[in-house]
Amino acid sequence: MSTTKLQKKRIATSCITLPLKKEVLEEIVDKAKDWALMHGAAMRSRTKYEHDTLTLAPFILLPSPLPKSEFEKAVAIQPTLNELMHKVAHDYDFLKESLKDTIEVDDFTKNLFDIYEIIHSEGAAQRISLGLLRSDYMLHSDCNYIIKQVEINSIASSFGGIGSVLVDINRFVLSELGYYEKLKNLPDNNALSGLCQGMIKAWELYNTKSAVIMFLVEDVTYNICDQRFHEFEIHRLNRDIKVIRRTLTQVANNAKLGPNKQLLIDGCEVAVIYFRAGYEPGHYHSQKEWDARLLMERSLAIKCPSIHYHLAGTKKVQQALARPNTLDKYLKTPEAIASVNEIFTGLYSLDFDEYGERAIKMAMENPERYVLKPQREGGGNNVYGNDIRDVLLKMKDTPERTAWILMDKINPPFTQGYMIRPNNPGLPEIVDLVSELGIFGAIIGNADTILYNKQLGHMLRTKLSTSNEGGVAVGIGALDSPYLIDDMD
Ligand code: ADP
Ligand code: MG
Repeated sequence: MSTTKLQKKRIATSCITLPLKKEVLEEIVDKAKDWALMHGAAMRSRTKYEHDTLTLAPFILLPSPLPKSEFEKAVAIQPTLNELMHKVAHDYDFLKESLKDTIEVDDFTKNLFDIYEIIHSEGAAQRISLGLLRSDYMLHSDCNYIIKQVEINSIASSFGGIGSVLVDINRFVLSELGYYEKLKNLPDNNALSGLCQGMIKAWELYNTKSAVIMFLVEDVTYNICDQRFHEFEIHRLNRDIKVIRRTLTQVANNAKLGPNKQLLIDGCEVAVIYFRAGYEPGHYHSQKEWDARLLMERSLAIKCPSIHYHLAGTKKVQQALARPNTLDKYLKTPEAIASVNEIFTGLYSLDFDEYGERAIKMAMENPERYVLKPQREGGGNNVYGNDIRDVLLKMKDTPERTAWILMDKINPPFTQGYMIRPNNPGLPEIVDLVSELGIFGAIIGNADTILYNKQLGHMLRTKLSTSNEGGVAVGIGALDSPYLIDDMD
């Protein structure tokens, strides 16, 4: 691919003609911000944290264009991806083989894997797992635009709550501006309800009316609205179910197993554990928190995710799955295999073999074409551009490199729009933006049977076209919703 091809193209079709007149913009931004705050598109501030105060979540004023056919493709493939993840999570040999070098050098993955080994040898008290997954995509512009998978998240897949509000903000803005006929191009988004129904289904399978759903949360939760939306939706759907929130440290201090390995904490029996924490090393302050994770895995509670699902969602496993012929083992039909292969982009291991050496050479020669990724979640960990060379030079002769993967850089087209940020006085300017679509899925089952498999809804995150990453929670990206269009030029 020549360098010119790597330059971003613009999607010419936007939902309305921009720019907006200054007076119109002034009024609609003010209104949209208040609408967003009043409907929960908000977070706790990282810079001026106050428990009783919420700050606006960054959002895009008007929905960003996305080709309808690619959106529908992403939606349609989700049950297949759910099934794939479920089967991979239950394939001990594949997980072990894929992660064997990584766990030699990456302590975090090793700690997770050690827990997995213990559960595997003891036999799990609870054979049922709940997966609430989110598969993330960007459009890749080569000859035309097609979705390529960035990653699939199997733990703490966030923004199902606030994401569901975003479509309403964008609809409100479009209709305030008088574009009623455009509203039909914003697909409904029932992600929040779907995610909560998944948790409720797992709670029903646990079959103890007094048992609770426990949200495992960070010591300080900034993305509180998104989490509470889930809690309140569960309450709305079934008010008999109590939700409690606990940190890993609280579990370490207060939880124990009952005679049938029930997870007991502060007088409650836990039916389902929904992890919104535990996916990064900083969440485990000491061995105590790791012991808490093991205790939960040993328990009868249904985990979302259980340890093998967590491992199946690692970047190293994603890369191993993209190896030729690997999908054949998990997916039944040639059509399913072809459809998943189509969304994969090039993924390369950095193992000490001929493939790894070749990947290192490619990345050193053309670093702008790749992204270098460690085994981490939560954004801000990847390496881009010339930094790839520096990082590889330092580690290419050390075992550390086997904990990283190399991925083809997806080259998304840009759109134009207004990004609305908190504490940002003055009127927003039109900026170049790129979007990442997430599709949510739920799967429940054990090693032998899949009991529940659904596509649930979506979320769109949009960032400046110049930034490499777009984490909303860390303040770089903004929440958005798709405006489906037929053609793109
Ligand atoms: P994390 O687990 O930290 O979310 P991701 O794999 O999702 O890791 O990467 C973080 C961000 O980096 C993505 O949201 C996307 O903006 C960017 N990114 C990741 N992979 C690619 C890629 N192959 N091409 C272009 N951008 C990428
Ligand atoms: Mg991600």
